[in-house]
Amino acid sequence: MNRTALFPGSFDPITVGHVDIINRSINLFDKLIIGVGINTNKQTMFSIDQRVDWIKKTFSGNQKIEVLAYDGLTVDFAKKCDAQYILRGLRTSTDFQFEKAIAQMNLYMSNQIETVFILSTPQYSPVSSTIVRDIIRHGGNVKQFVPESVKY
Ligand code: ADP
Repeated sequence: MNRTALFPGSFDPITVGHVDIINRSINLFDKLIIGVGINTNKQTMFSIDQRVDWIKKTFSGNQKIEVLAYDGLTVDFAKKCDAQYILRGLRTSTDFQFEKAIAQMNLYMSNQIETVFILSTPQYSPVSSTIVRDIIRHGGNVKQFVPESVKY
């Protein structure tokens, strides 16, 4: 069977935490689609094209990884991509509570799709796009928290 996973998120911007989850899970799957959400209710710092472009540059040369923008329900997009798995990363117990509810609601909507969780590497667990954005807003240096492709 061809195992395809969808890694959905805002990636506003992609961080070393996301990269770590992707690199550590890639061998579990034949194909990994990174789905960048176009959430019209959520004000993002970076445009959808910018977010997609940085991820594409980060993983250019990796044949197993595809980067696509999507809107609508994640389970619907997973079906459209023929993905059997949704990949999510877990940093803290707060992440767990939140992710558990989403994964269980997704199961209600589609019992064909399993959510797979990968625990963050300890040194990356405090890294979040939210804090990275705050640092950027206040003129700080985020070089150590984002992949090299992220330039703004
Ligand atoms: P969303 O807006 O859907 O929460 P994010 O781009 O913030 O999307 O995150 C996408 C996924 O990556 C989520 O599963 C999140 O828990 C995970 N993630 C984000 N940062 C890290 C990190 N530092 N370590 C592990 N997982 C992470």
